[in-house]
Amino acid sequence: MKSTVETQKASTADSTKPKRCSVMVPGEGSWGSFHMHNCRRPVKTEREGKYYCTVHDPENEKLRREKLHAKWDAKSKARRKAELPRLYAHEMLALLTESQTSIEGDWRERRDALLRKINGDGE
Ligand SMILES: [Zn+2]
Repeated sequence: MKSTVETQKASTADSTKPKRCSVMVPGEGSWGSFHMHNCRRPVKTEREGKYYCTVHDPENEKLRREKLHAKWDAKSKARRKAELPRLYAHEMLALLTESQTSIEGDWRERRDALLRKINGDGE
């Protein structure tokens, strides 16, 4: 009668897979970068032979970066738009002054064009 010990050993073969994320992270405090250690979070994904937790998974990090960039883009766009009235204030003032002395000419069209620029409709 043969023992079943052999077959049980085979099932431990996948123990080569690490249980912890393979990314190095800095330690605590301002000197933390001098005390790098392995991330202690449990492995969630394997990519090209490397093991990652949910946080350090390159795909997740890419998504987070893209999200952050989209946020920055929206912010700088909003900031640029907020600058527009100040940017065109001189032109608008000149046009308003002109409109006080002349009801003729194309100043209404130029006013509308200027208002479109100020409202950022061109973007
Ligand atoms: Zn990690």
